[in-house]
Amino acid sequence: MTNDLSMWDEDLLDDLCNERDKNLIKQVPIPIRKRPDSWYWLFDDTGNFTVKSCYRQLAGEWACPDRKFWNKIWHLKLPGKVRNFIWRMCRDVLPTAANLINKQVNIVDRCLWCQTHIEDSMHILFRCTFAREVWAAVGMMELVLVVPGDTVFQVTKRVFQNANKDQGAMFGMICWALWYRRNK
Ligand SMILES: [Zn+2]
Repeated sequence: MTNDLSMWDEDLLDDLCNERDKNLIKQVPIPIRKRPDSWYWLFDDTGNFTVKSCYRQLAGEWACPDRKFWNKIWHLKLPGKVRNFIWRMCRDVLPTAANLINKQVNIVDRCLWCQTHIEDSMHILFRCTFAREVWAAVGMMELVLVVPGDTVFQVTKRVFQNANKDQGAMFGMICWALWYRRNK
């Protein structure tokens, strides 16, 4: 903006931007309150940059509704590799058959255990008969509730809303073990 703060600095826009960008910028309303522009870091309430807020942003946990959930995950008394695994399964980035096929890898899409369903993380961790037997054996069937249409993230979030610390840790270990066994 120009020094009088009531209009865009046309000369500066001409120097820096192409026609398209100039037109887009000029559509941005100029605030009624006349204050100079300043830097503002969007991911911290104070507007100041902090390494913590940057880390949260990168880890995808800055959004308010899920912050509590991710805090619980990062504070689980579990090996780092298991906490990291929970993060990866919630983001659905495990190299399951379904995800690999999405990336044009030519492999069989069936679950290695039951051979009847497409192997995605929902199936390996919660829907496969093997997984269900495991959850039943440890008495966690009611806690690990799976509703049609759920994602792994939704199931996990619900578990951590209802689980105590030990159950949360147990849940994480079993998910990790199911994945570990599948890779074996
Ligand atoms: Zn299966």
